[in-house]
Amino acid sequence: MKAEIIAVGTELLLGQIVNTNAQYLSRELAAMGIDVYYQTVVGDNMERLKEALRLSSSRADIVILSGGLGPTQDDLTKDALASLLNRSLHIDRMAMDRIERFFQDRGVVMTENNRRQAIAIEGGTPLPNETGLAVGNAITQDGTHYIVLPGPPKELIPMFEQQAKPWLLQHVLTDELPIYSKMLKFAGIGESALDERLSDLITEQTDPTIALYAKDGEVTVRISTKAASESEAMVRLDELQERIRERGPEFMYASEDVPIEKVIVDMMADRGLTLSAAESCTGGLVAESLTSVPGSATMFLGGIVSYTNEMKRKLVHIPQALLEGDDAPGAVSREVAQALAENIRLITDSDFGLSVTGVAGPGYAERKPVGLVYIGLAQRGRETEVHKLNLQGNRETIRLRATKALLYRLWR
Ligand code: ATP
Ligand code: MG
Repeated sequence: MKAEIIAVGTELLLGQIVNTNAQYLSRELAAMGIDVYYQTVVGDNMERLKEALRLSSSRADIVILSGGLGPTQDDLTKDALASLLNRSLHIDRMAMDRIERFFQDRGVVMTENNRRQAIAIEGGTPLPNETGLAVGNAITQDGTHYIVLPGPPKELIPMFEQQAKPWLLQHVLTDELPIYSKMLKFAGIGESALDERLSDLITEQTDPTIALYAKDGEVTVRISTKAASESEAMVRLDELQERIRERGPEFMYASEDVPIEKVIVDMMADRGLTLSAAESCTGGLVAESLTSVPGSATMFLGGIVSYTNEMKRKLVHIPQALLEGDDAPGAVSREVAQALAENIRLITDSDFGLSVTGVAGPGYAERKPVGLVYIGLAQRGRETEVHKLNLQGNRETIRLRATKALLYRLWR
């Protein structure tokens, strides 16, 4: 099965938004065992859109379109596809009801152009939009399967997951065995370093397949296999999981798709342990990621963002002699990371005290390089651990990676 993706939108061509839909769709299709041969980006222009569609339908079995389903004149995707396939358009009753209800509930008068979002192509299957108004479509003609999805990722992703994927499995991949996947989560190791450790497994892969991707400072390895039954698939996936785990046992923290903060919160809540954090360069990101997990209230007591030296002194009682002066190690140092972790633990009377202090960039601080970060872990009745990190990336990435590295250290 050969697939193509056409992302529609002038904003994409102008570089105003990033084509994350193509990335998402390619990854999902790959996991279903469908090969993606081309990704196209085309503006909101009828002629060029039809041209792109014509070319794609001449060479692909599956064409997935994203964007251009909105209410405005420049949203042309369904019109272009209907015209290419010589089919008419009609209003999908269910979608129209949903749109009318949406405006009624808000007490707003619906403008006529909103009807466009309920348009469906004759003979196709409308794909309901659970998170927005524009209805999607799935249609087969002359052996080519077309799927039309809305542009906003928060609409496209659920529609693909809940409507398009089942449609593809039922109508297109009928002869194929179903695919089963497992997600393995890694932290404390970069994508390329992990890729290298797994390179021979990746090279020899046919089934199960291995796919790596990095997101939010963590690395996910998805392993997938085609099998007649779930139990048969699991035997194969568990065996591969074990081989992968052996390559970096200290880095694999979960065999399901969960962020490390969730693992930490669950682990500490289970054991009745408590935690606090004193943060500098992460500006509260450690507290933010932990408190984003439901159930964190029982284990996370609180934290301090002590950004300036003055606040490190006043709020976390870091001695002036460590912070400033000719012989002082400075705020970004092993000594200050240790003191921050120990003091926040004492101030909050928690079982663990965490700290982060570093240079997130873009400029140097204290004549120390961007990416230099110290993380501290103080624990009741144990010696405090401090780790020095040399992180790569921009300000945002460094802050995120420092946070994940700290949580990862805690998990270990
Ligand atoms: P709308 O009703 O908002 O116009 P639409 O289905 O017509 O929706 P577009 O006009 O293409 O879709 O895009 C709407 C918004 O969706 C864009 O402003 C952008 O934020 C997001 N978007 C569109 N295409 C992509 C893409 N390929 N990748 C990521 N985001 C996208
Ligand atoms: Mg639009």
